[in-house]
Amino acid sequence: MEKEWAKFPRFSREYIDGLESFLDFAYTRGRPQGREILCPCADCRNCVWARRHVVYDHLIATGFLKGYKVWIHHGEEISSTTKSDDDMIDNEDSQDDIYGLLYNTHRNVVEAKGGKEGPNDEARKFYHLINDANQELYPGTILHSLISYNY
Ligand SMILES: [Zn+2]
Repeated sequence: MEKEWAKFPRFSREYIDGLESFLDFAYTRGRPQGREILCPCADCRNCVWARRHVVYDHLIATGFLKGYKVWIHHGEEISSTTKSDDDMIDNEDSQDDIYGLLYNTHRNVVEAKGGKEGPNDEARKFYHLINDANQELYPGTILHSLISYNY
């Protein structure tokens, strides 16, 4: 909900109009106890139940409790007002997901190489090499072949 008006002087038209909209909001979206709502003025600090005209007077006289930016005691949800922040976090999450996906893909490839399919393939080549080696006359060549194969 728009709250720029709260920065205006408390006798200004903007503040008074905004205050009315706040009270409307508090009585429709919040949870009034009968005809009373928690007074968010600097004196009552959301600890005192008061009627609309009392809250109105308090908010003109002393203004809002400092730092009371999200009207959680008057029907406003934190998530609805910090939506832009959430969006930013979502974007970061998406980036993480992409990196995570790349990492997983890379890992799968690595695992495929050295994991499931790899050993069979490697083993086949290795046995092929051994078979070749069996036909070799010089053992030193086998070792050389194995080394150059692995590195
Ligand atoms: Zn008050």
